[in-house]
Amino acid sequence: MKNEGLLLVVSGPAGAGKGTVVNELKKDENIRLSISATTRAPRGVEKDGVEYHFMNCEDFEKMIGEDGFIEYAQYLGNYYGSPKKPIVEWQEQGKDVILEIEVQGCEKVKNAMPDCISIFIMPPSMAVLEKRLRGRGTETEENVLRRLARAAEELQLAKNYDYVVVNDALEDCIEDVKTIIKAEKLKAKRFHFE
Ligand code: 5GP
Repeated sequence: MKNEGLLLVVSGPAGAGKGTVVNELKKDENIRLSISATTRAPRGVEKDGVEYHFMNCEDFEKMIGEDGFIEYAQYLGNYYGSPKKPIVEWQEQGKDVILEIEVQGCEKVKNAMPDCISIFIMPPSMAVLEKRLRGRGTETEENVLRRLARAAEELQLAKNYDYVVVNDALEDCIEDVKTIIKAEKLKAKRFHFE
């Protein structure tokens, strides 16, 4: 009896804490976190190949033309995309794969791979979200305001996800996501009876 790997899509507004949540999950040796490509500039201590593959617009568009992304989208004027190759390889190895992507990307993955599991990480309130965004200290005031406006739009789409998890206390939020993964892995349809 063999259990298939899961494809998890985790979204939520910038500042909801989804990065912290997925970084905790990837400590599990069966879980792989997709490293996205982006045309935005590195922020703070971000390094190429760790948080993102930082690319220029020309290379990103070339990769689109070569069908190199599972999905890609524009967010506040920059491209973001999930490179296809590692994801396909991990799936072949039976690993659980996490994509930490925004709402348009999630929609595209759902259409292409309806078996994926989508989780929306919700901040406890807009006030908390604003505090967290400002607390990063890496964003300009203009960017904080743009991200807050975008967050308000994204929250409207939470209802389209399979699960919504509120990130009030981080430990509880991580535990909730682990519970979702555990339950999803036990679904009969995920087993291959040989
Ligand atoms: P940030 O600039 O804060 O790192 O990311 C901005 C938004 O882009 C976040 O909501 C993040 O989840 C999303 N994002 C990161 N990588 C990807 C990707 O590969 N595809 C899509 N569609 N969104 C992404």
